[in-house]
Parts: sequence; C-alpha cells; structure tokens
Amino acid sequence: MSNVLVVAEQGHGKLRKASLSALAAGQELARRTGGKVTAVLAGQGVGAAAQELAAHGVAVQLAEGPAFEHYLAESHAAVVAAAAKAAGAAWVVGAATAQGKDLLPRVAARLGAAAATDVLSLSGEGANVLLRRPMWAGNVVAEVELTTPVKVFTVRPTEFAPAPAEAGGSVAPLPVAVELGALRTRFVEFQEVKSERPELTEARVVVAGGRGTKGDFKELEGLADDLGAAVGASRAAVDAGWVPNDWQVGQTGKVVAPDLYVAAGISGAIQHVAGMKGAKVIVAINKDVEAPIFQIADYGLVADLFKAVPELRQSAKNR
Ligand SMILES: Cc1cc2nc3c(=O)[nH]c(=O)nc-3n(C[C@H](O)[C@H](O)[C@H](O)COP(=O)(O)OP(=O)(O)OC[C@H]3O[C@@H](n4cnc5c(N)ncnc54)[C@H](O)[C@@H]3O)c2cc1C
Repeated sequence: MSNVLVVAEQGHGKLRKASLSALAAGQELARRTGGKVTAVLAGQGVGAAAQELAAHGVAVQLAEGPAFEHYLAESHAAVVAAAAKAAGAAWVVGAATAQGKDLLPRVAARLGAAAATDVLSLSGEGANVLLRRPMWAGNVVAEVELTTPVKVFTVRPTEFAPAPAEAGGSVAPLPVAVELGALRTRFVEFQEVKSERPELTEARVVVAGGRGTKGDFKELEGLADDLGAAVGASRAAVDAGWVPNDWQVGQTGKVVAPDLYVAAGISGAIQHVAGMKGAKVIVAINKDVEAPIFQIADYGLVADLFKAVPELRQSAKNR
C-alpha cells in the first residue's frame, strides 16, 4: 500500500484552483496504488482554504504560523517533508505551477526521492505505476518509472479535471517547528501584477497576439475585455518588449487550456503550441495561409488582424 500526499497551494488565503487538479491526480494515483490520500497546506490564517480543500473529501494537514505567512521554498519544503513522514507517504504530488516547480524539487531532495515534472497522465497499478510526461516541447511523450522508495512529481493542472466536492474530508494541525531566523532565505517583497482581467492560466477565454501585431495590442486587449478574457502572447512579442513576460504562452511560458484561444499574428511554432494546444476551441487569425497555426486551429481566418479584430469586436457587440 502506497500512501499519497498532495501538496496544496494558497495565495492570499485562497485555495489555488490548480491544487484541486493535483488532488484529482493524487486520488487517481491512490486508486491505482491502493493507498490513502492526504493533503498538506501551509500559511498563516489559511484555515478557510484548508476547509475548502477538505470539502473535496481529503484529510488536510495544516501548518500555520508566522514562518509560513509568505511562501519560501525552504520553509515550505520542511512542512511537506514533515507531512510526508506523518502520512507515511510513498508518493508526493503537486501542481506544476510557478510555486510547485520551485518547491517540489527541493522536497524530492529532502526525501531522497526520484522526481518527474509536468506529468500528463498515469498508467499501471500497484508498484508498477508509470507517469507520462512531455519532452522536446511536447513532440515526444515519455513513460517514466520512479524507482526510489519515496517518489515526487508535479502534474500539469490542465490535464487533470479538478477533484469534485466530496464528503469525508477533515483538517488537522501539523506541528512543524520552523524558525524564520534560522532560514538561509528571507522574504523581502512580493510584487504582484494587479489586473482586472482573469489570471492567464485560469481564464475561460484567452486572446493572444504575436509578432504580427507589430507591438500594437490595443484591439486585442479590447477584444479580451469584451469577452472577459485574459491576454496572452508569443515569446516573439514578449522578447520584443511589447508586453510583460507573464503573458507568454508556451514551452517556456505558461500552459493554458481555456475553452477558447484566439491566436492573432502568431505563426504556431511548436514551442508556442506546446502551451495552448489543450484549448477546447482554437481560433487563428493570420494573413499567411501557410502558417502552421492553421494546422491545429478549429477556425482559421486568413486575414489582416488589424482589419479582422475590430470587425470581430463589432460583430460580437452587435450580438
Ligand atoms: C527553447 C525555446 C523555447 C521557446 N519558448 C517559446 C514559448 O514559450 N512561447 C512562444 O510563443 N515561443 C517560444 N519560442 C519561440 C518560437 O520558436 C517562435 O519563435 C515564436 O513562437 C514566434 O512567435 P510569433 O508566432 O509571434 O512570431 P512569428 O513566427 O514571426 O509569426 C508571426 C506571424 O504573424 C503573421 N502576421 C504578420 N502580420 C500580420 C497581420 N497584420 N495580420 C495577421 N497575421 C500577421 C505572420 O504571417 C506570421 O505567421 C521558443 C523557442 C525556443 C528555441
């Protein structure tokens, strides 16, 4: 029997949506290994987030205290390692978010565990569970076996539907003694980008622009606001300094899976497609009929975006 520990995240006391995808992966894994699932959450004054997580049928170990008020990989890794030991966990799973990518490798090092990142799906039963993960910008999918007694991995949140609400969860305190002064890292400041728009990775609709915009995102941002969407961009647009780098979608940017992805002036390089091919409906606007983006688009508009996007906005308004 292999117990599973799910690493949950909160921001400003709110449970992050990606944690429910990590929980879904943990629950699926436990069905395959015959183990029990528990979750761990750390913070200061985050009882409500712990309760929200428990409402999905999981026993939550909650570490609260001033040392956990601000996220630091060093202090949170100590919490997760303690929770893994308390739960007798053979598997530790978190979401491949910015925080998860920072934290889980450190947890693996502490536990002497083999690790896999960005897992897409699981297969096999008992001791023979295998993890599928992308390599080469998603062109190859590898099946990976972790052979250490404790195993750690992150999952791509867009590949696991959030765990549904379920009875039977609970919250219990997890005592972990972490002295802020004894840490080798120190929280200085968190500079948050404030936006009225939804978070890119959680948005239902994403409107993205590339080099074809020539740096003019005005109409695209307008379309995004008309649709209540987040704005994304290709790396070419980000590297040119036209838009902030947290808008970048792709292999080295964010992975998104919205209901609708509008790609305007984006050619569809594999590194960009790696970050958005999970979208349910892809609309491409490109003036080059040969652009590779049309190979994955559900709807393709061969047009000049400076003409097509204002027309789209107008017709959306008319409806
Ligand atoms: C290791 C590595 C990692 C990378 N990671 C990423 C990543 O995370 N995300 C990412 O996006 N890229 C990434 N890239 C870069 C990637 O290879 C491409 O260079 C990049 O995606 C191209 O961006 P683009 O489509 O905006 O530009 P281009 O490829 O130059 O395409 C611009 C498109 O706009 C069209 N166009 C021009 N004018 C108009 C107009 N008026 N109306 C309509 N269409 C027009 C053109 O026909 C063209 O198809 C990475 C590359 C490497 C090597």
